[in-house]
Amino acid sequence: MSKPGPRFPARLGPLQPASKTGSASVLRPQRPVHEAARDATRRSDPGTRSAGLGLDSQAVRLRMVARLRADGVRCEPVLQAFASVERHRFVDTALATQAYEDTSLPIGLGQTISKPSVVARMLSLLFAGEGASARGHLGRVLEIGTGCGYQTALLALLSTRVLSIERLKPLHDKARAHLAGWPQGDVRLVYADGRQGHGPSAPYDSIVAAAGGDDLPAAWIDQLAMGGRLVAPMHDAASGGQVLLVLDKHAGGVRRQLHDAVHFVPLKSGTA
Ligand code: SAH
Repeated sequence: MSKPGPRFPARLGPLQPASKTGSASVLRPQRPVHEAARDATRRSDPGTRSAGLGLDSQAVRLRMVARLRADGVRCEPVLQAFASVERHRFVDTALATQAYEDTSLPIGLGQTISKPSVVARMLSLLFAGEGASARGHLGRVLEIGTGCGYQTALLALLSTRVLSIERLKPLHDKARAHLAGWPQGDVRLVYADGRQGHGPSAPYDSIVAAAGGDDLPAAWIDQLAMGGRLVAPMHDAASGGQVLLVLDKHAGGVRRQLHDAVHFVPLKSGTA
């Protein structure tokens, strides 16, 4: 896969102040699999169907982007990436009609593809980091939790290089198949325990995790470049739930901010 240059100008809105919100506003990127499976049998978004559009239509994706924009996503590069990646190609055929709804969907082994609005929020936070704002792209990216590879494809459009780690072999293989021949970006998929990061390709300008633990693995902070930003769900003792942690690394140390309440699958140890 050939290496891209930065493709999008950075036009960023200000970061929302760090806040911890109540459970009513918890962003749920991954709802319980049984709910997602149940919904798979229901009819697809009427707006999508009534327009008579095929899922490969750009118009279907643009409608999703319009919803993200209406929901407050202001990061143009991120919105443009959502407009170009065909989410329906990353889920099972039976679920494809729901691919452009703001919902998580099962991808096998009890895991789910995250909800577009939550992915957009995380990527916007990553993009609002000092380094990414100045560069206009995310630089060298480490992703933990490849899953089906959808977010990896978005990241490929927003960075110079993506290294994505998955601990479940069947999902790693699935993402590899989804991203085979992916025309844009420099993407490398690794089957390993992402808690260790990936030393050989460090440092990373941006690190993003799609699974949350009780603590932040030290390897991630070690492997984050100076001026880099990390966004990850993490257990928050104060609320008893998960929140999005934004960590910036500077010569003087690290700065942490807690953002939205979220609900991600657990960050597990080892491979399977
Ligand atoms: N961004 C993904 C979301 C997948 S769900 C997508 O678009 O599909 C989160 C993923 O994190 C799961 O596939 C899970 O297996 C993976 N995961 C959990 N703990 C991990 C670890 N320690 N290392 C690597 N991947 C991990």
